[in-house]
Amino acid sequence: MLRIYNTLTRKKQAFRPLHDDKVGLYTCGITAYYYPHIGNMRKYVMDDVLKRVLMHDGYTVEHIENVTDVGHLAGDANTTDDKMRVSAEKQQKTMKQVAEFYFDIFRNDSERLDILPPTKFLFASEHIGEMLELIGKLDARGYLYKIGSGMYFDTSKFRSYGELTGSTFKRLNEQLRAGARVERVEGIKNITDFAVWRFAEGKDMIWDSKWGRGFPGWHIECSAMSMGALGEQFDIHTGGVDHVAIHHSNEIAQSEAATGHKFVDYWVHHEFLVVNGQKMSKSIGNVYTVQQIIDMGHNPLALRLFYMSGHYRQMLNFTFEALKNTENTLGGIYAFIGRMAEVKNTKKNVDAPEFRKRVGEARKAFFKSLDDDINTPEALAHMHALVNEANQRAASGKLSRAEAMAVIKAMLDFDEVLGLRFADHATANKAPLEEDIQKLVDAREAARKAKDFKKADEIRDVLRQKHHITLEDTPGGVKWHKA
Ligand SMILES: [Zn+2]
Repeated sequence: MLRIYNTLTRKKQAFRPLHDDKVGLYTCGITAYYYPHIGNMRKYVMDDVLKRVLMHDGYTVEHIENVTDVGHLAGDANTTDDKMRVSAEKQQKTMKQVAEFYFDIFRNDSERLDILPPTKFLFASEHIGEMLELIGKLDARGYLYKIGSGMYFDTSKFRSYGELTGSTFKRLNEQLRAGARVERVEGIKNITDFAVWRFAEGKDMIWDSKWGRGFPGWHIECSAMSMGALGEQFDIHTGGVDHVAIHHSNEIAQSEAATGHKFVDYWVHHEFLVVNGQKMSKSIGNVYTVQQIIDMGHNPLALRLFYMSGHYRQMLNFTFEALKNTENTLGGIYAFIGRMAEVKNTKKNVDAPEFRKRVGEARKAFFKSLDDDINTPEALAHMHALVNEANQRAASGKLSRAEAMAVIKAMLDFDEVLGLRFADHATANKAPLEEDIQKLVDAREAARKAKDFKKADEIRDVLRQKHHITLEDTPGGVKWHKA
């Protein structure tokens, strides 16, 4: 049985969904104002692993992910500008145009990291009606007050405010008052109070409401969209650790104040990715995107494997050396699967029941680790142990056809969760490529060596679109797969 660490209770708990074998999962998605970086993408990969584990355990997962295209104030503070609006003004585009541009990039990156798409992506600007309805409920229940800049939620009225942080309303306010850097909004009653509706004039992403023209607060968006899609109470809500103190605490306050009952059963939070031991920041120049990693000649699936080499609740340190090592490991696994496929095609050797049993044990251990709060490093260690043993057996000529088949089956089963496209390597003796296609593959390789990445990408696109050949750059050279 799956156990997950619940931030709300601060312990690992057995996972019991509200409705039999169905799971409602909500992921705080991107604010589409800029390029998502490899730190952002770690969170989405680890959400994907969680979702795949649930699916492997037999659950049907209704997965909702929002896209914030309005209302996310910079720094989460109450006084600053909407990140989307600032980005649109800078680029002289509409907010919708900006959102669509970065959302496409996000989706493309997700695909290259083999992240399964959610059941639905919900754009905030398309759900304003639901947000206004929720704000209306809060107003009717006396949780809101009006000041010059908007409608605010009075956090002192919500009894368990801040429970997710393990603190209390009183302590949080004291701490924030002590911190000199918090800007106090004119007219606000408590430092922890936040806007559910901001007053604003203009045309781009501004709506009428009975309280005045304006746009929704970022927190109300997630409350309204998650409950709208999954019901007033649902199973799992995920996000980065940076969302615990403000965004998710506010989501809980609004949702539970409006419904009068529990909002989410399990809160799952992901730790940060750091680069060379430092927080990613533009000033240090260590912010990388998936595209940049690919342009440097790396396989995005190696990045996916690298993410999984750490536990999601622990900080992970990205270095190019570590990525390179992971890439070697991944190349080794692919070669191993190919080798198993070759053994599968021979007819020699007799079965050793003990080894078949060993494969079964490795499979069990792998999924047991994942069921223990998605312990990916431990699960991967079980897989590597199996790979080593099977490799040794194959090298000494002992591995039988049936054993090799059992190993491949186990590897493909692991890959349902890992998402590393093992199946592409499980067929032996590939026919050589047709001559003109091979020429293109060689030309791309030459362009890449000459660091003409633009040309290399163009050829790669031609291969994919015209010939349905995808390329993968491995330490052992370029490999290809036919779609
Ligand atoms: Zn959210």
